[in-house]
Amino acid sequence: MEIINPATEEIIAAIEEDTGQTIKEKYEAVREGQQLWQVPIVERISIIRKFYDLLKDELEQLAKVLTDEMGKPLDQSQNEIKGARARIKFFLENSEKWLREEQITHPVPSGHPSQEGNEGGVEEKIVWEPLGVIANISAWNYPYLVGVNVFIPALIAGNGVLYKPSEYATLTGLKIEELLHKAGIPQNVFLTITGGKDAGEALLQLPLDGYFFTGSYKTGLHIYETVAPKMVPCQLELGGKDPLYVTDDNTHIKGVAKAAVEGAFYNTGQSYCSVERIYVHQDVYDDFTREFVKEVKQLKTGNPDEIDVFIGPVTRQEQLEFLQHQVDDALKKGANLLAGGKKMERKGYYFQPTILVNADHKMSVMKDESFGPVIGICKVKDDEEAVALMQDTEFGLTAAVYSDSQQRAEQILQKINTGTVYWNCCDRVSARLPWSGRKHSGIGTTLSYMGIRAFVRPKAYHLKKGIR
Ligand code: NAD
Repeated sequence: MEIINPATEEIIAAIEEDTGQTIKEKYEAVREGQQLWQVPIVERISIIRKFYDLLKDELEQLAKVLTDEMGKPLDQSQNEIKGARARIKFFLENSEKWLREEQITHPVPSGHPSQEGNEGGVEEKIVWEPLGVIANISAWNYPYLVGVNVFIPALIAGNGVLYKPSEYATLTGLKIEELLHKAGIPQNVFLTITGGKDAGEALLQLPLDGYFFTGSYKTGLHIYETVAPKMVPCQLELGGKDPLYVTDDNTHIKGVAKAAVEGAFYNTGQSYCSVERIYVHQDVYDDFTREFVKEVKQLKTGNPDEIDVFIGPVTRQEQLEFLQHQVDDALKKGANLLAGGKKMERKGYYFQPTILVNADHKMSVMKDESFGPVIGICKVKDDEEAVALMQDTEFGLTAAVYSDSQQRAEQILQKINTGTVYWNCCDRVSARLPWSGRKHSGIGTTLSYMGIRAFVRPKAYHLKKGIR
């Protein structure tokens, strides 16, 4: 498998892909290794703490690898690794508490007299057991962030992990494996599977104890259907078409426009919670679009290795064609182009930062995930119309409202069917809060205490001392 730098189109490495046979062998190794990983949780945590330190020690080198293989601007690569460390810190500090055995001191009567409470001296407790060996099939856009959501709590809970990074983030995946082993994770507790679709398929055929996937709706649906007969946990973190609404009471339109630009174009628009479509109240529409265009025109685009570059190439060559299709479709249906609109005339997979105004829901740019530096802006007459349009989507990941009034924003946000909502912020994830998609954005939860419990199953103990 050849690894191509999207900024230069050069082959930067060639990697041997795993085959069905090597994947089976790795599975057998991890199945055995997982048994040896049932050490006290404090030992597992102390090994992960070493990994946390190694990420800091090797930050610059790791960021460079990430930038070279997926085109993320270098300081954004560093930010990603720093963000991943913050998430790991949350798991280091909170896992013991949420995985601790629970003695039930005041059992709730079950209704049946013979089963009630502690009568008859039955002691009750809950023990959290690891799932076993899980697959972590991952995406390329934030390989550290979406990876640590899964493999860190999975390892802390005592699972073995078969980690399949995206074929567009393989070098980073191998680095993660190297550092985990260097930190002290036994060789056969965490193994990386290299390859693309076929390697992923091979994992679906194995008798694993859980599937944790990050990627597109199309692949996620296929995985969900394929593993259903196994009746093991299957969590899916999928795409989005996240809206941002600007109300008419905003007094700092320039600041709102700046935040919206960052939300739409950070990571070259390839964030799972990127702002993908913008609705603006008619009374502030002209002011907002003017400021938005000004901001976008100031963004530095170019070689992701250069300091200050905010927009690099998109990671996958085929995305260029899709973005062009969205622009052409919107223009044909009546949108106006205020910036960008096509691939850049240079080597590498660069697309100009693109703004389409007068966009509507007949256009792909307002309905299908763009996953690139292209944004549609639509004028609305009131909050009701904004809510109807924000809700007109198959996805349900995040939604943002910018308003001077928290009450107004919350009234709007409680009507929106997404797992995350934002007031005066966007494109943000917190390790303390549950991360979950609704509708075609996925199923299951990572992060927060729920994302710790996602990697264990409860065992209910009924313990009676002696029979009288
Ligand atoms: P993708 O679905 O193309 O690939 C994801 C992973 O699945 C890769 O590792 C790939 O090799 C593997 N895969 C492909 N076909 C497979 C198959 N048949 N069986 C098993 N595995 C298979 O997605 P992508 O392009 O890597 O990621 C981009 C998508 O991910 C976007 O839609 C983005 O919004 C979404 N995403 C969502 C979140 C979230 O938190 N909700 C986070 C990051 C990315």
